Amino acid sequence: MQNVIADKKVRAYNFSPGPAMLPEEVMQQAQREFLNWNGTGMSVMEISHRSSLFIEIAEKAEHDLRDILHIPKHYKVLFMHGGGRGQFAMVPMNLSGGKKAGYVQTGVWSQTAVEEAKLFCDVQMVANSEKDNFTTIPSPEKWQLDKDLTYVHYVENETVHGVEFQYIPDTQGIPLVVDMSSNILSRPVDVNKFGLIYACGQKNVAPAGITIAIIHEDLLKRKPLPTTPSIFRYLEQAEHDSMLNTPATFPWYMAGLVFQWVKRQGGLEVIAQMNQRKADKLYQYIDQTDFYSNPVNPKHRSRMNVIFRTPTDELDTLFAKEATKIGLTNLKGHRVIGGIRASIYNAMPEEGVDALILFMRDFVKRYG
Ligand SMILES: *Cc1c(COP(=O)(O)O)cnc(C)c1O
Repeated sequence: MQNVIADKKVRAYNFSPGPAMLPEEVMQQAQREFLNWNGTGMSVMEISHRSSLFIEIAEKAEHDLRDILHIPKHYKVLFMHGGGRGQFAMVPMNLSGGKKAGYVQTGVWSQTAVEEAKLFCDVQMVANSEKDNFTTIPSPEKWQLDKDLTYVHYVENETVHGVEFQYIPDTQGIPLVVDMSSNILSRPVDVNKFGLIYACGQKNVAPAGITIAIIHEDLLKRKPLPTTPSIFRYLEQAEHDSMLNTPATFPWYMAGLVFQWVKRQGGLEVIAQMNQRKADKLYQYIDQTDFYSNPVNPKHRSRMNVIFRTPTDELDTLFAKEATKIGLTNLKGHRVIGGIRASIYNAMPEEGVDALILFMRDFVKRYG
């Protein structure tokens, strides 16, 4: 098959789960502004986070994110270090008071969040799909929601297992904390339903190094565990506009460019349609063959991370290897579950998914 890099001159269709592809337009803008931001003669990398120049970038990014997600005034938006895993610790440190917290376990990431939370609080398993090999989401009627839970945590999109919630669960008044690391900005969301939304940047927002948290004022009033370091306290971060220490200035700027790109696309409704179309195409093709298979309950399939297998592990490996040669990169599945995984976040153009399906057809012809 034709090499897509040769076709397009430079860029691969990069199916990496993260750090992931960023929109080409955004990369080009960053390149244009790299040495000389806005006529200052300086790179964004080289200016103080306390300077009016950077404050302008930071404030615009927050403003645009609030606009895109319709974030109400009584939520604070934080841009922090520490990634998704940092939040796995920060959440129980700040919100549990060392008491009971509920966790929904639907894959590797929620499982990791559980392990981390156990360091700080009494974890209660609200629901767990481990016995189904994380191929589904336990139906909410069966969730165990004790009234004394300080919050309920879940992962909306399980990046490794390719499982995604297509609804917001009702936790009967218990504050809901969600990890949206791998699907934030992929569709509209009703922020009001959450106590806290967080996401690391490197899947759908920015290069690695920045983590977004959107937190309800009421949760900011909770007392952190006394040993919580100041940079891990939501309230201190909020009081210092996320500049208690030096923030990740360049990723913050890049996030801002991505927010502007989302707006130019027509906002999250339009983005959601594009994402749905890409995922539908890929799943439809997988389902119509006997050669490829996806184990996830169709109601809970991820629109962002499409996992699949060929009939053998050897062919899975060969698939990823051959695909790389023609510019379809990073398709190897996660080491925990193997197989193949196509991560198709916002920045993956529909043509990338089309090229992948063409390659899949060609591969079946040769090895099927
Ligand atoms: C990638 C990912 C994480 C971990 O993010 P880090 O920034 O590497 O700590 C957490 N949760 C989900 C759902 C992820 O996809």
